Amino acid sequence: MRAHKRLIQQLQQQGIKNSAVLEVMQSIPRHIFIDEALSDHAYANHPMPIGYGQTISQPYIVARMTEELLNQGMIDNVLEIGSGCGYQTAILASLVRKVYSVERIKELTNKARKNIMALNLNNVQFYHDDGHWGWPEHAPYPGIIVTAAPISVPEALLKQLAIGGCLIIPTGPKGQQVLLKIVRTRDGYERSTLDDVSFVPLCEGIS
Ligand code: SAH
Repeated sequence: MRAHKRLIQQLQQQGIKNSAVLEVMQSIPRHIFIDEALSDHAYANHPMPIGYGQTISQPYIVARMTEELLNQGMIDNVLEIGSGCGYQTAILASLVRKVYSVERIKELTNKARKNIMALNLNNVQFYHDDGHWGWPEHAPYPGIIVTAAPISVPEALLKQLAIGGCLIIPTGPKGQQVLLKIVRTRDGYERSTLDDVSFVPLCEGIS
């Protein structure tokens, strides 16, 4: 599809270099994640509504977060907070052995699960819960990706990161968010700032 090819070229122009990430962004269809009425825009490089006041992330941001995570080395499994419609989940599941994905809105957990099954991806486990608490059962994680922004980094996610592992997380209030990369070392955590970003807020509780 031409629009899909054009999107991949745009991602390269915007600085995405990892060939595995680009290949997966090319092979996973984005239109199946989006309401049919909006599907003409499925390969536009911007976020779009998925219902319940939430959005599917911009392809560039999905690629950037995934690339930063993989740059950290071999990532065996990933904890994702904010499944949404499952698009970022599908990209991750195509690149790592196992994805654990937490979502606070029940209907979106179901939607994400359905989309992932439609793509025949069998290495994802979903959990309907408040992602502020992570998913302790499968910790520690070599990679954690958060797709909604808390005001500050939740303590539980730092605790569930493996030594040498990498957490990619947007933080800050609306209009002042930055994307952080946090690597756990033997003695603590190293933080770097990647980009100014705009994510929906990480909300408290489940619905
Ligand atoms: N990665 C998704 C982006 C979804 S937008 C995609 O590609 O479609 C962010 C998602 O985070 C929303 O679905 C929202 O409901 C969810 N979210 C917000 N706060 C949360 C929390 N505390 N725990 C888990 N999920 C949360």
